[in-house]
Amino acid sequence: MPELHDSLSPLFDELLARNPGEREFHQAAREVLESLGPVVAMHPEYADAEVLRMLCEPERQIIFRIPWVDDRGRVQVNRGFRVEFNSALGPYKGGLRFHPSVNLGIVKFLGFEQIFKNALTGLPIGGAKGGSDFDPKGRSDAEVMRFCQSLMTELYRHMGEYTDVPAGDIGVGGRELGYLFGQYKRITNRYESGTLTGKGLSWGGSQVRTEATGYGLVFFVQEMLAAQGGSLDGMRVVVSGSGNVAIHAIEKITQLGGTVVACSDSGGYVVDDQGIDLDLVKEIKNGRRGRISEYPEARPGSRYIADGSIWDVACDVALPCATQNELDEASAGALIRNGCTVVAEGANMPCTPGAIRLFAEHGLRFAPGKAANAGGVATSALEMQQNASRDAWPFDYTEARLAGIMRGVHERCLTTAETYGSPGSYVAGANIAGFTRVADAMLAFGVV
Ligand code: GLU
Repeated sequence: MPELHDSLSPLFDELLARNPGEREFHQAAREVLESLGPVVAMHPEYADAEVLRMLCEPERQIIFRIPWVDDRGRVQVNRGFRVEFNSALGPYKGGLRFHPSVNLGIVKFLGFEQIFKNALTGLPIGGAKGGSDFDPKGRSDAEVMRFCQSLMTELYRHMGEYTDVPAGDIGVGGRELGYLFGQYKRITNRYESGTLTGKGLSWGGSQVRTEATGYGLVFFVQEMLAAQGGSLDGMRVVVSGSGNVAIHAIEKITQLGGTVVACSDSGGYVVDDQGIDLDLVKEIKNGRRGRISEYPEARPGSRYIADGSIWDVACDVALPCATQNELDEASAGALIRNGCTVVAEGANMPCTPGAIRLFAEHGLRFAPGKAANAGGVATSALEMQQNASRDAWPFDYTEARLAGIMRGVHERCLTTAETYGSPGSYVAGANIAGFTRVADAMLAFGVV
């Protein structure tokens, strides 16, 4: 592990001691602190004001019981979380995740990442994350509805256009957001569109929000390639996952002349050298809520591999779009051996620190999620703008805004990395640019 700057080392030890067992939170915080050495050396005012100590402590953490009744009439009890991490730049903003792996450490890592990601977009949004250990897999629509209603019966009191604006994440898409907004509206007796993003187009949602994380990721990759005189045309791409981010990344890569040859779900992966048939993936995952193992039945020539790693599939560009720590050192080694040159994170923290180190040692260009997947939350901020002005923008205009924001994020990463002595490092650039924007606002506010 790289050393931390002298003034940051005690801070990290304190974070470990105060947050025992929260492995993913430790990992996310460590990565940011490793980048900040040159910043605290150049600007001792941040250390003097204990900005980092404040930043590592969430402003508010809410944990609550979510009781609900399943289709067989049995009472189920889940746990709900909302970690309102930082509101220096705007209302708390970040998604809700429904997955059995959700616990406080996971929500804190996601909320922490969200602070820097949101800052990096240049838009006025703070950082938060929430969710539940509820597993939507195999649950009926009615069960999902009752669960969402019970969750919102507590969460609504913490939300608001100027306070905290949740959205989706893993396990939370259009269906869940509909039930959540419906219950919010009923309890409060107010049609407050700006209190939740990712809404349906007929009830206050924004064009391009559904596509935004995947499209934004590909716009970012386009910038990375263009910076070296390349393009996506003719590139062989591997995209892990087959959820919202993966599907829209595949769509945009294909539009731009690349070929996606593999995608996956938690059960295994499919390889299709002709290029993944996106309509089929959408039908399986969104239509039937099925498994990617069903893909080869309808697509002769493709194959499904149940065990093993999708990162063994040779590619020029790798886009991990599934979940945290899905791409480890061994996977990174396989990608490098097979000639991959660009890796960009569509999921949050999918690459382990060891994998990222290997990419750097072998000269791959690597973009962390807080830069590369910022398009989702950025378009949420555009949704908030439209809601605040009671307006609805056309698709092409909104997509052009998203592309402009991703160009800005890319530019900010590279110029900041250069200024602080790590030219070409998107990790350093993203962490430092995100941090300085939040830290300057915190300095202005004093000890609050
Ligand atoms: N869950 C998404 C993310 O990781 C989007 C959050 C939002 O739109 O608020 O950035």
